[in-house]
Amino acid sequence: MSGASGSGRRVRVRIAPSPTGYIHVGTARTALYNWAFARQHGGDFILRIEDTDTERSREEWVGGIMAGLEWIGSRWDEGPYRQSERTALYREAADHLFRSGALYACDCTREDVLERTRDNPTPGYDGYCRQRGLERGPGRALRFAVPTGGVTVVHDLVRGDVEFANSTIEDFVVVKSNGDALFVLAVVVDDRDMAVSHVVRSEEHLPTTPKAVLLWEALNAAGPAVELPAFAHLPVLVNEKRQKISKRRDRVALEDYEADGFLPEAMANYLSLLGWSPPSGEEFFSLDDLVRDFRLEDVNHSPAFFDNQRLAHFNGVYLRALSDEEFTARVREWAERTGHSLGTAPYSTAAFAVLAPLVKERVTTLADAPDYVSFLFAEHFEMEEASFDKAIARDTTAPSIIAAARERFAGLIEWAAADLKEALEAIAADHERKLAKAQAPVRVATLGRSVGLPLFESLEVLGRNETLARLERALERTR
Ligand code: GLU
Repeated sequence: MSGASGSGRRVRVRIAPSPTGYIHVGTARTALYNWAFARQHGGDFILRIEDTDTERSREEWVGGIMAGLEWIGSRWDEGPYRQSERTALYREAADHLFRSGALYACDCTREDVLERTRDNPTPGYDGYCRQRGLERGPGRALRFAVPTGGVTVVHDLVRGDVEFANSTIEDFVVVKSNGDALFVLAVVVDDRDMAVSHVVRSEEHLPTTPKAVLLWEALNAAGPAVELPAFAHLPVLVNEKRQKISKRRDRVALEDYEADGFLPEAMANYLSLLGWSPPSGEEFFSLDDLVRDFRLEDVNHSPAFFDNQRLAHFNGVYLRALSDEEFTARVREWAERTGHSLGTAPYSTAAFAVLAPLVKERVTTLADAPDYVSFLFAEHFEMEEASFDKAIARDTTAPSIIAAARERFAGLIEWAAADLKEALEAIAADHERKLAKAQAPVRVATLGRSVGLPLFESLEVLGRNETLARLERALERTR
């Protein structure tokens, strides 16, 4: 085992999302690292729902979190546990800590504290109740008595030892005056109870980690000692302006990427590169490769740029690597799931598969695909009005070109792209037009739009009867 697995204890890691919204891409990255680390060491990956913030937590988000973790490929082994179901444990720990003298009761109101500390050089609680020896009771919070001197060291596998002077840590609240345990205590109690060996999470949590270490040590002193987990704080994700990505200004919900037609394997690959890269330097890799190569020690500290363009590039590469059958199946599945149904016969999925190589070259997401092939599926085919107007209604030669195409196409012995092209070349010559200009009205008449896949390959797949019928209908509209 690598050094990261510590002193040979069983590897147990966790993802601890709060159900206050959609799953953030940063949380998905954290989940992938935890999952891969657990798999590599034959350990356990725990899902713990941190719903202590009852005002903002919603049960319906929990389902979305689980679906997102499964979609990205980081399935948990244990849980979901919910903090809201574990409050008795937190209360018990608080009792223990109070009895041992690590916590003290405090009846200061926020206003009292502000009033007294207005001119203090360091913000935060001033320790007013620390020596008052108040009993616990309604309306009294419990604060942690932080040692006045010395430092608290966080051993971090990514950043090395990070020291915090205890003088900069206020006597923080552990249990609110209404009796509710705060997050900082709940996390420590859970990590102890669940025998978590490594806390791998976003660096946003680094500032509160010394408090967790102090609490952990106090619990060890008061009761049975449990080995501290190793910590690894992962770099934050930033946008092109180097700002932390947030739901207010950036696209951060994993679900949105799924709905937009990103492939989970492309997403997982791209997210894994935000803060880490494999020793080979290879950018494209599978989850199996991640499990084999991932090292916490190789995670870097600097903020990672979440680059939507690069993600789109990754997605395109993954889409093009799919077989034609797989590609069409994924597009269909995406369309059905997101309510963009392609429609049904007469034009089959097999016809789509024939055009798949051409579609794959042109798309970056699954969502881009239906427009290219909708002409194959539209039960009631219609020309796009703007395209009809431009390429047919306002082109006085268009009716003659369409009529000639219907004529010559009908007489073709073989219904093949090369023959269709030859026929239209002859028509173009008759009308003294370049081929591209002669194609425009035929394209709109048969495929409905002025942009799309190559015309002749499309018509080959569309078939003789339907092509001729569409040319006829377009012609009627010009009369
Ligand atoms: N609940 C925290 C979050 O959603 C995670 C805290 C932790 O991993 O310790 O970011």
